Amino acid sequence: MRPNCFDVTNRSFTISPTIVYSFHPRLSWFTFASFASLRCNEFFDHMNQTKRTEIFRRLRAADPAPTTELAYQTPFELLVSVILSAQATDRSVNLATAQLFPLANTPQKILALGEAGLTPYIQRIGLYRTKAKNVIATCALLVEKFGGEVPQNREALESLPGVGRKTANVVLNTAFGQPTIAVDTHIFRVANRTGIAPGRNVVEVENRLMKFVPEEFRHDAHHWLILHGRYVCKARRPDCPTCLIRDLCEFKAKTKADVQSVAR
Ligand code: SF4
Repeated sequence: MRPNCFDVTNRSFTISPTIVYSFHPRLSWFTFASFASLRCNEFFDHMNQTKRTEIFRRLRAADPAPTTELAYQTPFELLVSVILSAQATDRSVNLATAQLFPLANTPQKILALGEAGLTPYIQRIGLYRTKAKNVIATCALLVEKFGGEVPQNREALESLPGVGRKTANVVLNTAFGQPTIAVDTHIFRVANRTGIAPGRNVVEVENRLMKFVPEEFRHDAHHWLILHGRYVCKARRPDCPTCLIRDLCEFKAKTKADVQSVAR
């Protein structure tokens, strides 16, 4: 396996002998540029497409129809759930919306509740005050500008309070079937650790995923990567010994099987 010049997990660059050698004064600029370009390519695209395709084949075989763990029936319910889910668990959002949606699951009905009426339903969710304001303001805009419907394009979605790029991507993908990839903390980690789409920020990772995930997997890639990050490639201790893409993943610090459980 080729060495990585950049380990995103450790947030550190490794100065390789190639880079040091290429700065040698006797070497021409052409030589320097050639080596530099080689190293950049390693950083920006060090996993080949055959590996990426096999990774997604395996994820699809294990879970042919992945979807969100947020409970929703309509695009509007999904939109509200995703706004509420920022820095909160899907479980806490589902508990709240299980009470809210049977009574109010349209912009008009939530507007009728008002901020004071909405707050008791969502007060167990983090940042609930800000989220209550955003949900009410979003409902007002949906009624005023979009006929009470959730718009199906990014620009309109991102004009709604509390809706950023990630939320718009989730709604476009999950409610409207568009092949967008919303990069959250799980996807950012998995994309960088595995080498599928390394990037310094979520937009870089999203752009690279959109470029390199083969088209046949693009629609579901978002859910496969989230679920993999949430349950297997976890932040503190990835479960490498049981990971179904272990032999394809380029993470250098894979965890080993627990000695006690192996001995048993
Ligand atoms: S082998 Fe480990 S680091 Fe790589 S994807 Fe699997 S769990 Fe994550």
